[in-house]
Amino acid sequence: MRRLLPFAALGLACVAAALLLLPYYLTILTYIGLAAIVSLGLVLLTGQGGLSSFGQAAYVGLGAYLSAVISTSLHWPPLATLPVVLLVSIVSSYVGAVITVGLSGHYLSLATIAFGLSAYFLFGGLPFAGGQTGLSDLPRLSVAGFEFRTPQASFILVWCILIVAMVVLSNLLDSRVGRAIRALKDGATMAESMGIDTRGSKLQIFVVACVLASLSGWLYAHFQRFVNPSPFSLAQGIEYLFMAVVGGAASLWGALVGAGLVTFLKQWLQGFLPSLIGSGGNFETAVFGIIIIVMFQLAPDGLIPAVRRLTGRAGIRPRAVADAPPLSTRPRAPRGEVVLSVRQARKSFGGLVANRDVSLDLRAGEILALIGPNGAGKSTFFNLVSGTLDADEGHFEFKGSSIRGLGSRAISRLGLNRTFQHVRLLPDMSVLENVAIGAHRRGKAGLFSALLRLDRTEEALLLAQAKHEVERIGLGDQLWTEAGALALGQQRALEIARALAADPQVLLLDEPAAGLRHGEKQQLAALLRKLRDEGIAILLVEHDMDFVMRLADRVVVMQFGTKIAEGQPEEVQKDPHVLEAYLGAAQ
Ligand code: ADP
Ligand code: MG
Repeated sequence: MRRLLPFAALGLACVAAALLLLPYYLTILTYIGLAAIVSLGLVLLTGQGGLSSFGQAAYVGLGAYLSAVISTSLHWPPLATLPVVLLVSIVSSYVGAVITVGLSGHYLSLATIAFGLSAYFLFGGLPFAGGQTGLSDLPRLSVAGFEFRTPQASFILVWCILIVAMVVLSNLLDSRVGRAIRALKDGATMAESMGIDTRGSKLQIFVVACVLASLSGWLYAHFQRFVNPSPFSLAQGIEYLFMAVVGGAASLWGALVGAGLVTFLKQWLQGFLPSLIGSGGNFETAVFGIIIIVMFQLAPDGLIPAVRRLTGRAGIRPRAVADAPPLSTRPRAPRGEVVLSVRQARKSFGGLVANRDVSLDLRAGEILALIGPNGAGKSTFFNLVSGTLDADEGHFEFKGSSIRGLGSRAISRLGLNRTFQHVRLLPDMSVLENVAIGAHRRGKAGLFSALLRLDRTEEALLLAQAKHEVERIGLGDQLWTEAGALALGQQRALEIARALAADPQVLLLDEPAAGLRHGEKQQLAALLRKLRDEGIAILLVEHDMDFVMRLADRVVVMQFGTKIAEGQPEEVQKDPHVLEAYLGAAQ
């Protein structure tokens, strides 16, 4: 409930504004609300998902034109065109996303620019849409006999929809689906290896953002009662993105602040500059651009994060995590059974053979250590087994079935879970939520349950499980710390908790003890022994020989991409090849 307080306060402020402000200001505020609905979608798409779209104005235009054409030519009331607008925007944005989401970086941006340009010319060129003159005399929106005629009524309607959209998106971000979305920008490889369908998440945010844009367009058409192509141009699409970024694309409130600031700034410059330097040229656009550049210098993440930092309110607010029964676990293989069997694994990078015909078996309930000098090919082997990299050759079997070529998402869903040598976590997200990403596969709640907050029972179970795993690795008092603020050793421990949250049968740990203090290493060793005794198979890369030799049941030694020895720790330590490899490496 405390979560909703700011939104309720905003609602009250809107009521006060409607009662107190002159119609002129209410009209400006209505435009701000309409723009904020669009840039809210961009906060989701760009700020959270890392996908920049310059083409959102095209979807605003789609909503506006569709409703304008239907309501003028077929004489449908505006409310009846809304389902059509929503359906068309869902289908078209889904198709558009399927085509473009595979593109990355600037290719995606260029595609949205091309789309924004072509939509603008389409709106102007369609014969039934009135060409450049557009369509006028659109009906006013009316609901159950009430016509939204006054500036007050339009303002309240637009801002109610805006507030509902903010609540619904804040529901979304605070959920299993939302964690997957928040991992898209900087953690796609990690997310896939936690069983998250990153492509599906991208499609979801594309559709949600476009639905918000066309909803804003629909409102605009019947509030303005006139449409022509110019408000849906590429320049406007760029401005929506500006709004999200200036306000702070990481926060939903950024959309609101950005829309307000950009709209006010432009209004003010249009009124102020001509009186200062004459009305000879359109200087306001140039001055606007300069102000925006200066703001990006001063507050690169946008205004909201800057204000939060200045007022000392940055960081994550802790919440209570209710205790809940543990999630059901998958049946484990009996101890001693071979769960992972690799034969003749081979991988080259250009001319360098990083893995040359490596074979090994891993059994349920054992700790197998993979050791060898730097560059021996250990991490590459992990990447091949976990599907993060494709092998050139080799057989990879998990519990008797081939996993070669399945990809990291499918492999992790089977129960092979890993940590990374170079930690991959979401630094701005809390420790608890980072670990909950590991439990993604164990929940089912989808987009709609998340938007409407129907996922609370399952979410409580996932968070309780994540909390349990965080406590197991000894970070129970840091649940709500930003993961990026932890010491490196703790970040490694967090990765282990995240892998454990996935209910692994095989745990692949790449240098888990690096950066840990002596006491922490002993705690880690105790945890790994306990997991082994529960029947988990652990494959471990580690450089601390003392740690390895005390902990491992068996050791495999690699050098130059090849397995050079395998056996009990005592045997391996005496092996002449191994001694030579290590002494050679030390020289
Ligand atoms: P280890 O983990 O044993 O230190 P790695 O598996 O990381 O070794 O690396 C083995 C060799 O493969 C090294 O020479 C490394 O430079 C090379 N290598 C690893 N990953 C890549 C990659 N993605 N592209 C090119 N070369 C790589
Ligand atoms: Mg390595």
